[in-house]
Amino acid sequence: MDKNYDVIISGGRCAGATLAIYLAKAGFQVLLVDRATFPSDTLSTNTFFNNTVALLREIGVMDELLKTNVTPVNTIKFQFEDAVIEGAIPEVDGEDTGYCIRRTHLDYILLQHAKSQESITVIEGFRVTDVIHNDETVIGLRGQDRFNRKQEYRASLVVGADGRNSTIRKLVNSKLKMSSPSTAAIYFGYFSEFQHDSVPKFEVYKRNDKVAILFPTNDDVYVVVGNFPLENKSLMASFKEEPENSLRELLTNHFPNTTIGTRLKDAKLVEPIKGLLGYDNYWYQGMGKGWAIVGDAISFKDPAMAQGIHDAICGARILANILIENGCQPNQWDNIAEEYQKSMEAAFMARYYIGCELSKNEPISEEQDAVNKLISVHPSVIEKFLGIYNYANEPADFEKGLFRIMESNK
Ligand SMILES: Cc1cc2nc3c(=O)[nH]c(=O)nc-3n(C[C@H](O)[C@H](O)[C@H](O)COP(=O)(O)OP(=O)(O)OC[C@H]3O[C@@H](n4cnc5c(N)ncnc54)[C@H](O)[C@@H]3O)c2cc1C
Repeated sequence: MDKNYDVIISGGRCAGATLAIYLAKAGFQVLLVDRATFPSDTLSTNTFFNNTVALLREIGVMDELLKTNVTPVNTIKFQFEDAVIEGAIPEVDGEDTGYCIRRTHLDYILLQHAKSQESITVIEGFRVTDVIHNDETVIGLRGQDRFNRKQEYRASLVVGADGRNSTIRKLVNSKLKMSSPSTAAIYFGYFSEFQHDSVPKFEVYKRNDKVAILFPTNDDVYVVVGNFPLENKSLMASFKEEPENSLRELLTNHFPNTTIGTRLKDAKLVEPIKGLLGYDNYWYQGMGKGWAIVGDAISFKDPAMAQGIHDAICGARILANILIENGCQPNQWDNIAEEYQKSMEAAFMARYYIGCELSKNEPISEEQDAVNKLISVHPSVIEKFLGIYNYANEPADFEKGLFRIMESNK
């Protein structure tokens, strides 16, 4: 006879595995399915800041993650045209170090931890194809296992933690609440023998309409990212034909007054370049009768913000807490859907809007350049600027600090 589950989760990476772990610790019976088998990579770079480290420690996987030969990072450097905004990562919850851990490690270790919980059943290689309804309420899902056998499972709640192209989101007709397109192409590669910029840092450079992002990951390898406008047809064509040379040329020729070109010269590409051509920032309705969505399934922000892994993990924790507090009873979904939506938007909307601005990929105006130069010489404002990325402070705290120095400079 089929086991009775409280919650079925489709998608077993940052959002899905985290949700399962928190629910299991509270005694829920959870079925976690993913069409992938692990360890496996996904289309993503890997940066997360120290606020995420605190969450991963709470979940119980940080010690295991630190065994993956990853370079710790304590400094963030932004260079907008020639203005350098650089400083130590502001401390959060006693943590002061960020990491860029390959998803083959991060997702695998999270999923292994989920598997080790008695009340979680994990099925890898299971592709969800349909949800089962009773009138308007979702009561389960159907899919195909790795042997192409059709299976169905039932639970009080079905959760889509199944990413940007969420199947569950489509099947339940979740409403799109807002979206904002990006005009950028993102290409990235993993390079060995790439020197640090004095010490390991998360580095972001913006010059005209192009962006370079660099950070060290596992095994002394660097992630090297180049962004440029989709409408740049010649770059688009050259990246399609010769991705490695195009990435090298983009970063060497378009970022003068930086060390990128010199550092890239002797570096060796260790796996094929990957790309993402255009994407939307978006928010969807997060919960309905018998279903919820979390992680990229509910909201996606410009990857240049490096918030997705954090928001998937932190969002899963928010959803878990709401379910633990309210239980998983039929007929209650209308009541807690509003609480879930409000909690998620309160947690992540401010940085969503920043992501939408970044996605416009506009060159830095003269006025903004003057502001950036002002920030670059005021350590207290630099700290508040960097603190936006790891939730050490809110964007409004940075704006207040900036306003103060602008007033005193008048
Ligand atoms: C190019 C790029 C770079 C990025 N860089 C960063 C970064 O540096 N830092 C950062 O914080 N974020 C980054 N992000 C964002 C980050 O990757 C996501 O926010 C994060 O992966 C979301 O986690 P998730 O668990 O919601 O979804 P995902 O990681 O997408 O996992 C979804 C899972 O659902 C499974 N699934 C999907 N459909 C089905 C189905 N029908 N049946 C069963 N299983 C299914 C998939 O196999 C997958 O394992 C980047 C994103 C991109 C695209």
